[in-house]
Amino acid sequence: MYLEKYKLDGQTAFITGGGRGIGLAAAEALLEAGAKVVISDHNAEVLENGRAELLAKGRAVDAVLLDVTDADAVGRAAREANERHGAIDILVANAGIAWPDTPGESMADEVWRKVLDVDLNGVYWSCREFARPMLQRGRGSIITIGSMSGLISNKPQRQAHYNAAKAGVHHLTRSLAGEWAERGVRVNTVAPTYVDTPMSRGGFTEPTLFPVWMEMTPMKRVARADEIASAILFLAADASSAMTGALMVVDCGYTIW
Ligand code: NDP
Repeated sequence: MYLEKYKLDGQTAFITGGGRGIGLAAAEALLEAGAKVVISDHNAEVLENGRAELLAKGRAVDAVLLDVTDADAVGRAAREANERHGAIDILVANAGIAWPDTPGESMADEVWRKVLDVDLNGVYWSCREFARPMLQRGRGSIITIGSMSGLISNKPQRQAHYNAAKAGVHHLTRSLAGEWAERGVRVNTVAPTYVDTPMSRGGFTEPTLFPVWMEMTPMKRVARADEIASAILFLAADASSAMTGALMVVDCGYTIW
């Protein structure tokens, strides 16, 4: 009975920023659970590489070029995906960028706007456009990808833009979850620690960063993308059917201290 609740047969998932990293690992997890999956990314080469990587493992996905900062394009992608696949049952609003070490007192306007545009606005456009048909059907599961950076302020790098955007994602998720709870659409967030993906990997060999990160991490390691994907699978599936508005922290213990 319990393992059945992780099965996603007959459901279709759409993942933003799914060409690599956590999004690609989430695609693999949801495919393994039986879902059909559409991966999207704004970079055609990354998208195609991701699609090919899954295909090499025997898993076919649909791939859609999509920049989440373009609200109209997100709306079109949602309509087309729903038409093509009958319904999109699961959305993983994952696309994000991080530009670490940007001092708060001297951050350029365009740097602040760019990070907020992808990391917060992009998540909202995705939730809004994919939720509409879910609300009409009275069923859907949305997972937003926040960060422990929405709970703590990272050290030693300065990234007020990213931290603020991720705190926004957490509260956006709770707000939408409250609005949609009675209408069958659940909205939950996963908040990871540093994960071994292209986004953070550069910091792992940086002597001014990595020792500080590990000093602050009780488990003394970073997370793997598949460990974040496991949480995404749980929140996508009926295994978490009583959860909405929840923040699932997957942080190797970072926020304990
Ligand atoms: P990656 O950079 O490996 O993957 C993210 C993907 O999203 C990239 O292909 C990226 O492309 C793409 N993307 C960027 N901007 C857009 C856009 N406007 N529209 C569509 N796609 C876009 O990062 P991760 O897999 O590590 O990150 C996934 C999510 O997890 C992000 O929201 C991130 O903030 C969050 N997270 C990651 C952590 C980490 O340590 N890795 C820690 C905590 C949270 P491009 O290469 O052009 O940027």
